[in-house]
Amino acid sequence: MTSETIHGLKRIRAARPADEAPVQAADADRVAAVMARLAEADPDPKAGLGRTEPFRLLVSVLLSAQSTGPTVARISDDLFAEAATPQALLALGEARILDIVRPVGLGPSKTRAIVRLCATLIESFDGVVPRTALELRQLPGIGRKSAEVTANFAFGEKVIAVDTHVFRVSNRIPLAPGRTVDAVADGLAARVPDAYKDGAHVWLFRHGRDTCTARKPACPGCPVADLCAWPEKTTFA
Ligand code: SF4
Repeated sequence: MTSETIHGLKRIRAARPADEAPVQAADADRVAAVMARLAEADPDPKAGLGRTEPFRLLVSVLLSAQSTGPTVARISDDLFAEAATPQALLALGEARILDIVRPVGLGPSKTRAIVRLCATLIESFDGVVPRTALELRQLPGIGRKSAEVTANFAFGEKVIAVDTHVFRVSNRIPLAPGRTVDAVADGLAARVPDAYKDGAHVWLFRHGRDTCTARKPACPGCPVADLCAWPEKTTFA
C-alpha cells in the first residue's frame, strides 16, 4: 500500500465543475471489457505495495491528509517503532505522539485523531480493527474511501475505493458516471464484475495517474481507447 492511494475526497469535489462531463450510460459489457484489458496488462496489481497490517494502514490514512507518501511512511515507521497497537499508542501518550508526528504536518489534529481512533477501537472493537468497510466507517476520522482502502488492502474485501484518479477515469470512459464520489463508488460497486473488484482500485488509480491524466490524457496509445466514449479524448495522429 502506498500513500498514493490516499487522497482527500473534498479535493475531488472542489476540482470538479458542476457542469462538467455529461453523464453517459455505461454498459455492462464495456465495463467488463475495460477491466479485463487493465487486468491483462497488470495481472498482479497489489504486488510490491508494502505493508497492509490493518491498524497501521488506518493510522497511515490519518497521517496522510495533505501530506506526501514518503513523509507519511517515515513518520509511520517512527511511530510504530515505539507503539504498534491501539493500547500501546494510548499508553505512549498524546504529547509523545505529537512529537513524532509533527513533521508530517497538522500534528495536533492528527494526534487527536489517532488518539480518538485508538480509544474507539478499544472501547467498541476490543482493540481489533474491524474487517468490513461498513464497520470501518464507524471509526472516527475514517471516511468511505479510507474504509474501503483498508478493507480492500488489509482484508481483501471486494470494494473499490474512489480517489481523484478513479473518480476521473470512471466518469470519462465512462464506467460509473456520477457527480459525487458516493455516486461513482456505488456505480462501480454495481457495474464492475466481482472477478475484478479486488484489483480495480489499483488498476483504475494507475490508469488515471499514468495515462488518463487530468490535464493531458495520453489517448493515443491508451489501452482502452477503443472502449472509451469520452468526447474530448485526443485522437490518433
Ligand atoms: S482514451 Fe483517453 S480519455 Fe479515454 S480512458 Fe484512455 S486516456 Fe482516458
